[in-house]
Amino acid sequence: MMPMSELHQLTVTQLAAKLRAREVSAEEVARHYLARIAAHADVGAFLATDEAVTLRQARAADTRLAQGNAPRLAGVPIAHKDIFVTKDFPSTAGSKMLQGYCSPFESTITSKLAESGMVTLGKLNCDEFAMGSGNENSAYGTVKNPWDTARVPGGSSGGSAAAVAALLTPAATGTDTGGSIRQPASFCGLTGIKPTYGRASRYGMIAYASSLDQAGPLARTAEDCAWLLSAMCGPDPEHDSTSLDAPVEDFAACLNGSIDGLRIGVPREFFGEGLDEGVREAVESALAQLEKLGARRIDIALPRTALSIPVYYIIAPAEASSNLSRYDGVKFGHRAQDYRDLAGMYEQTRAEGFGDEVKRRIITGTYVLSHGYYDAYYLQAQKIRRMIAQDFQQAFQQCDVIAGPVAPTTAWKIGEHGGDPVADYLADIYTLPASLAGLPGMSVPAGFSHGLPVGLQLIGNYLDEARLLKVAHRLQQATDWHLRAPEGV
Ligand code: GLN
Repeated sequence: MMPMSELHQLTVTQLAAKLRAREVSAEEVARHYLARIAAHADVGAFLATDEAVTLRQARAADTRLAQGNAPRLAGVPIAHKDIFVTKDFPSTAGSKMLQGYCSPFESTITSKLAESGMVTLGKLNCDEFAMGSGNENSAYGTVKNPWDTARVPGGSSGGSAAAVAALLTPAATGTDTGGSIRQPASFCGLTGIKPTYGRASRYGMIAYASSLDQAGPLARTAEDCAWLLSAMCGPDPEHDSTSLDAPVEDFAACLNGSIDGLRIGVPREFFGEGLDEGVREAVESALAQLEKLGARRIDIALPRTALSIPVYYIIAPAEASSNLSRYDGVKFGHRAQDYRDLAGMYEQTRAEGFGDEVKRRIITGTYVLSHGYYDAYYLQAQKIRRMIAQDFQQAFQQCDVIAGPVAPTTAWKIGEHGGDPVADYLADIYTLPASLAGLPGMSVPAGFSHGLPVGLQLIGNYLDEARLLKVAHRLQQATDWHLRAPEGV
C-alpha cells in the first residue's frame, strides 16, 4: 500500500478509488494537502485557506462514504480560482477592489462540486479580474511556475495551474475567457478543458467578458477532467440565461474506444511566424503519436486566426468596461477614505482599487463603445467574430477535431514582458479563436522544450467535449508526459 506521505501523487480518480475503498479517509487526505499547502506557500498559488471549513467538509464526505452512497468524487479535494464567489472563503478576483470581500451566495460551479462531495482546500490566485496571460496582474503577488520558479505559470488561472502542478491539490477550477484554462495548463504540464460556451453556469463567476467567460477544470489527466467536467456542467436556467439546455453526458463513460480514422484538422495558421521551434517539435511529436493511434491528419485553414487578437481585445474590454462599472465603492468591496463628493468617491475608489491592466481595459472598452467609435471598432469586431466562427464550421466539414499548439512559447520569465501588455496579448493567438467562436478547447501535455512543458491544443465542435476528452485520454494511454512532475515538489 502507498505510504500516506505520498497521497499527493494520486490523480483524482485514483484518490477517489482509495477513498471509496476506505483505505484513507477524506479527513486524512484534507489534512495531508493542507500541510503541503502551508509548506509550499512560496509558490504563491493560494490566496485563502481555512482549516476548519475544509475539515468540516471532509468529515461530511467521510460520513457519506461510510453510508456507502456517496457520489464518486466524494472526499476528493479541489481548490477554486478566486473568480468563483464562495460563502466560506473570501472572493477577491485577484483585485484589491475586492480585498476581504465575502459573498452572501455561492457560485453554481462551486456548489455543484460541493454537492458532488468534493472538499474545498481554498481559493487560488489569478490575474486581476482574469485579465492576463501570466498571472503577473494579480494584486496579491506573482505565482511561480513549479517547473521553473523564475517563470510564470501562465494566466489568468495561474494559481490553479501552479497548485495542481506543485501537487498542492489534485484538481482546480479555472475560467477561460480567451485561453485562461488552456494556456496555464500548457505552461504547467497539465490537462485542462474549457467547455462549449454555455455548458457551465456563469452564476457567481465574477464577470469579465460575459459572452466569452466559461469555467472548466485543470487536473493531471483527461480522465480526471472528464469526471470533473460532468460534475460542473449543466443547465442553470434560473441563474444564467446563457446556460445551455443540453444534457450532460457522463464524459468518463465516453473515454474509451479507438480513434482509428479520426480526422484531425491542423490549421496551418497555427504553425506560422512566431511559433517557437521547441513548441513546434513537441506539438508535432504529439500529432505523430495520434497518427500512430490511427488518426488521420488533414491540413486545414483558419484564415482569420491573426484577426482574433484585435477582435478579442476590442470585445473583451468592451464587455469588461460594462461589467466592472459595478465596482463604484457603494455596493462591493473597497471604498476610498478621502473624497470630496459622490463623483470623487467613484473616481478615488477606482483609482485605488483597480490595477493598471484593469484600468487599461476599462478605458479601451469605454472608447470602443463610445459614440463615433462603436461602428468603427466594436461593430466591426462583432462581424469578424462571426466570420471566425464560420471559418471553424467550414473546417469541421473536413475534420472531427482541430489540433495545434496552445501558445507560441513555453512559460516566459517573470518580468520578461516588462509590463508590455501587447506582448501578453500576442501570446493568446492560438487560444482566442475557439473562445470567440464559443467552441470547446483543451490543453493536453505534449512533452517538453528545454525542460518546460508544452501543451497540445484540441478544439472540438459545439458540445463535442466527449470526443476531445477521448482523444486526450487515448494520447495519455500511449504517453507519459502528463504523469511527470516538476523536480522537488
Ligand atoms: N489573456 C487573455 C486576457 O487577458 C485571456 C484571459 C482569460 O481567458 N481570462 O484577456
